[in-house]
Amino acid sequence: MKIKQLPAIFEPARPVLQKIEAAGYEAYFVGGCVRDTILHDDIHDIDIATSAYPSEIKAIFNHTVDTGIEHGTVMILDHGTGYETTTFRTESGYQDYRRPDKVTFVRSLSEDLKRRDFTINALALREDGEVIDLFNGLTDLQKHLIRAVGDPNERFHEDALRMMRAVRFASKLNFVIDGPTLTGIKENVPLLAKIAVERIRVEFEKLMLGQKPVAGLQDFISTGLYQYCPGLADAKDVLSALLLLNHWELENEAQLWAVICIQLQLDQGEINNFLKKWKTANDLISQVKKIVPAVTAIRQRSLMPVTIFKTGAAALHDANQVAKLYGWAILDKDLQAAYQQLPIKNSKELAVDGKMLITKAGIKPGPLMGKIIQQLTTAVINGKITNDPVTLLNEAQKIMKEG
Ligand code: ATP
Ligand code: MG
Repeated sequence: MKIKQLPAIFEPARPVLQKIEAAGYEAYFVGGCVRDTILHDDIHDIDIATSAYPSEIKAIFNHTVDTGIEHGTVMILDHGTGYETTTFRTESGYQDYRRPDKVTFVRSLSEDLKRRDFTINALALREDGEVIDLFNGLTDLQKHLIRAVGDPNERFHEDALRMMRAVRFASKLNFVIDGPTLTGIKENVPLLAKIAVERIRVEFEKLMLGQKPVAGLQDFISTGLYQYCPGLADAKDVLSALLLLNHWELENEAQLWAVICIQLQLDQGEINNFLKKWKTANDLISQVKKIVPAVTAIRQRSLMPVTIFKTGAAALHDANQVAKLYGWAILDKDLQAAYQQLPIKNSKELAVDGKMLITKAGIKPGPLMGKIIQQLTTAVINGKITNDPVTLLNEAQKIMKEG
């Protein structure tokens, strides 16, 4: 197959491939960018594979960066853009079901394509548009099939993460996993326990944020992969309940983790423990802890100014997006209006600060000070008092007298 007009993203990279070829080596676009070109999907980055060894690439180009030279990856800098180029390689060993013991550079494209996970990811594209398809990836693309390259059982033994990748591509592309590949997953799920949770998380997040999360989720559940994910071993029923939901419009990781926490009915402390097990970033944990109670408030139509204030604009948006999935959402414009009506949007906007309370209201630094600021903030948010220094200082003194 020959593609007549490559998408614009390839244009500036073509001279790079031409230059490698002119030096006597082979060079191709490979992996996701080829698949997405044929599917007419958005292409977010392009990967280049070459028969040239890293040292040979560095001899051809003046400006390169060793981004992962031990794996064969060198970045070529050309007109301000970086192109990651990886030498054809084979992998062997895999004693631990996750990482090859040995990576060997080779000169043959077919050896490189053979080590790739699925036929749809094992296509190569010449800079002139010619597609090299050694494993019937084009047919599988047409049939919307995810099929392991070679024997699924062997491939999942080599790298158990591929099982998660299969279900995430099912979701990302709205494809079906081919029978023997699906069987291969079912028979090898326990191997997922060998994989670092961070790597599983990346694939799980892509699954949940894909085109058709229910497709990937269905396979994630039916294969039993969920049993080897942190905190999900007993979650079959609550995960299955998600399959009945239709309005999947999740936009980011925080929203999807909020959905999982809601399904599991986790309280604040449990959210913390659960997400720590998944090794998510602390920022994400605090965001999810704001989103989950806000979703409850939206659902119960009890969204009070204090909750809106504490949740903040970003988490409020996330909460309503999650609520949409469940059919609980309120109109985005009503939510925005409620937020805009807050007299202050954050504690810095309070017309007094600690320093003023000390100098002008005679309050001593200490725990009481914090409580006073909190009470003032709440009173302002609830519209009980206006946000001006005189009112606030009077109120502060009143609170202090009352103890
Ligand atoms: P995306 O568009 O989601 O990034 P992708 O296909 O580019 O999809 P990557 O994870 O970026 O996926 O991997 C790039 C390519 O490397 C894949 O297309 C595949 O050929 C190969 N690959 C990645 N991970 C594996 C793996 N665990 N086993 C075998 N091949 C892999
Ligand atoms: Mg990619």
